[in-house]
Amino acid sequence: MHIAVVVPCHNEEDSIPHFVNRMTSVERDLTPWLTEPVSYVLVNDGSTDGTLACMRELNKRNDRWHYISFSRNFGKEAGLLAGMRMALELGSTHVAVMDADLQDPPELLVQMCERIDGSEFDAVAAYRKTREGEPPIRSWFAHRFYDFINKVSETTMRDGARDFRLMTRRMVEEICALPEVGRFSKGLFMWVGFKTDWLGYDNVEREFGTTSWNFLGLVHYAIDGILAFSIWPLEAISVIGVALSALSLFFLLFIFIRALLFGDPVAGWPSLICVVTLLGGVEILGIGTIGLYLSKVYSEVKKRPNYIVDEQR
Ligand code: UDP
Ligand code: MG
Repeated sequence: MHIAVVVPCHNEEDSIPHFVNRMTSVERDLTPWLTEPVSYVLVNDGSTDGTLACMRELNKRNDRWHYISFSRNFGKEAGLLAGMRMALELGSTHVAVMDADLQDPPELLVQMCERIDGSEFDAVAAYRKTREGEPPIRSWFAHRFYDFINKVSETTMRDGARDFRLMTRRMVEEICALPEVGRFSKGLFMWVGFKTDWLGYDNVEREFGTTSWNFLGLVHYAIDGILAFSIWPLEAISVIGVALSALSLFFLLFIFIRALLFGDPVAGWPSLICVVTLLGGVEILGIGTIGLYLSKVYSEVKKRPNYIVDEQR
């Protein structure tokens, strides 16, 4: 095996030295599977701290530590894509993807190698068995997100799954060949298919540096995931539209007959307002949902690249 490890980094100057130490000791345990030393692709995603300097220094000392530096922050998904592309260029037979903050324990790579070597699996992916240490409200929303997306999308996503995984070259080639601009990697990893083996581990808290995600960012990420992997919201508003139309036709008939039988006393103003506001709300919801999808179509047709490279080595 020739493993290339892809690591997206955004303001990780505090984590990188620890990451390098941990990986260096893991490499020794990996030797039984390696035909070539492990290569690394660190992706600097528009960091504002000393992350890039760190990467240059590493590369100078050891040319197995490659790096790509973006012209600005393009997001983790773009970092993953750039890193995987370079990993393929390096001729690796297997690609590992992990975070720089050691929340993806590098030691698990050994078990991943064990499981993937000579097996039917094209990926061994890590998932957190627990979300201990995470704010309960965040866990709750995360669980609901996975419940929802698994109901409305044909692509199943595992609750607790990380991006942390080891994949065969052919699987990575398929992922890199997907042309979409709005990339939701957790979904893409599953969408390409092949067999994935799941490796559970206990949640690890970030020790160094700070997370780049806040709650709103995660909500945004969840919406992106749903829009990229399901058209259920569009179907749902169509169904609501049909149901409401049927209901109002029925209502019209009822009022018409009642007026014929009992005349038409002017009453029912409050109920009228209720119906008008309800319909207004549903219409705006419908337009908003269509707008969300349209915005995705818009960003896809512009065909802007996922990232711009400033420097790479
Ligand atoms: N990251 C990145 N670009 C971003 C945000 C994050 O490349 O815009 C990287 C970050 O350096 C880390 C990984 O993505 O290696 C996961 O980020 P983080 O630890 O902040 O997220 P969490 O573990 O809380 O999901
Ligand atoms: Mg993290």
